[in-house]
Amino acid sequence: MQPPKSEICVICGVRPAETVDHVPPKGFFKGVENAQLRTVPACCTCNNGASSDDEDIRFFISAQVGKQTAATKKLWEDGAHKTILRKRKLREAFVSTAGEMTVIGEDGVPVTRVAFRVPISTYQRVFERTTRGLYFFHTGRILPAAVPVEVTILAGTPNMDNEDIRMLKVETIGEEACVYRWGVVAEDADCSLWIYRLHQTHWAMATTGAVE
Ligand SMILES: [Zn+2]
Repeated sequence: MQPPKSEICVICGVRPAETVDHVPPKGFFKGVENAQLRTVPACCTCNNGASSDDEDIRFFISAQVGKQTAATKKLWEDGAHKTILRKRKLREAFVSTAGEMTVIGEDGVPVTRVAFRVPISTYQRVFERTTRGLYFFHTGRILPAAVPVEVTILAGTPNMDNEDIRMLKVETIGEEACVYRWGVVAEDADCSLWIYRLHQTHWAMATTGAVE
């Protein structure tokens, strides 16, 4: 699928596009063979400034999804684990908020999990960039910089029977590494809803504009 073209960076909507940026970040697909990654025109500032954020968030996603599958095992071993060894501040922030938590598993049996706090401002930046990029990728329109993008981490699987969610289009990148659903409100092109599922267990949601 060829992305639409733009002379202007589709992330900030201001500076000239001199490069292409991967949305979602390329690092999220570490270990996925032949993933057809998506790129959009971006300026150097938006593109280069993001790699450290992407690494941090990949680490938290990897820590959450575990390494049960070949792809998530590689995501950890070739990516996230190296990041946490190299970045002392990230490691300290992770350790200081991590703890054990008992949750009820899908079969109703309590299980112990490692819980930790994700740096929400970094998370917001990564998924805002991804959302702005994919918005352009699918609509060919740059979401104006003044239109807010609000990102939420979802604790678990959202209710897929919800009518608003069932109406969304479904896209898959890199086998099951990223499945996302999206839709733009017919009466207001600034308003859209995005639901991301990464490595089958990590869920996030983004809204643009004033979506109720
Ligand atoms: Zn830019």
